[in-house]
Amino acid sequence: MLFNIITIFPEILDSYLNEGMIKRAIGKKIVRIKTHNLRDWTNDKHRSVDDSPYGGGAGMIMKAEPIYKALKQLKIKGRVKKAKIVLLSAKGKKWTQKMAREYSKLDEIIFVCGRYEGVDERVLNFVDEEISIGDYVLTGGELGAAVMIDSITRLLPGVLGNAESAISESHSKEGVLEYPQYTRPEVLKIGKKKYKVPEVLLSGDHKKIAEWRSKRSPST
Ligand code: SAM
Repeated sequence: MLFNIITIFPEILDSYLNEGMIKRAIGKKIVRIKTHNLRDWTNDKHRSVDDSPYGGGAGMIMKAEPIYKALKQLKIKGRVKKAKIVLLSAKGKKWTQKMAREYSKLDEIIFVCGRYEGVDERVLNFVDEEISIGDYVLTGGELGAAVMIDSITRLLPGVLGNAESAISESHSKEGVLEYPQYTRPEVLKIGKKKYKVPEVLLSGDHKKIAEWRSKRSPST
C-alpha cells in the first residue's frame, strides 16, 4: 500500500510515521509513505499556495491550481488501479473503522492536507472523497492523514504481531467495544486502596472467561 501525503509541512509527521507499528510495516515493505511539498507545484517566486477569499472574510484559502497539478502528476506517476484521492476536511464524511477496513483493500491513497481556512471548494472536483476524522476543527489535515494511515496500516496482513488483535478489538464488529483487559500485578495497591483483577480471569476456565468477556463487551 502506498500512502502519498500532499502538504505544505512535509516533515511534520516524520516522527510519528517512523516509529512502532508503522516503522515495522515500512521495514517489511507492506506500506510505503511518500510526502510531497505542495509548494513544488507553484510557479511564483514566493511559492504561494494560498490567497484571500472571494467575498471577503477571515484568513486565507488554499488555491486549487497547485493541488490540481500535484494530483495530476502523482496519479500519472502511480499508474495504479485502486488509487483513491482523499481531501481531509472538517466538513467531510466521518472516518470509521468500517471505512478503514474498506480502504485497507486499496493499493494507493493520496491525501490532500488543507491548512489556513481550508481549500478552494473547486478542489472537490479532483478528489474521490472528503473525510473528517471527527467533529472538531484541526489546524491542518496532516493529523487526519496520520490517523487514517495508522488505522488502515494495522489492518494490513502481516502488520500486527498477533492477527487476533484486529479481530477481537473495539469496532471490529459494528457497534461492539472490547472487554476490559488486565495485566500484572493481580492486586494493584495505591495507598490504602487495593484494585483486584476479576477472579474469573485467574480461573483458567476458558469457557467462563469467554462468557465474562462477551458480557463485558459494551456496545456503542
Ligand atoms: N474553515 C474550515 C471549516 O470551518 O471547516 C476549517 C479549516 S481547518 C483550520 C484547516 C484544515 O485542517 C482543513 O482544510 C482540513 O484539511 C484540516 N481539518 C480540520 N479539521 C479537520 C477534521 N476534523 N478532519 C480532517 N481534517 C481536518
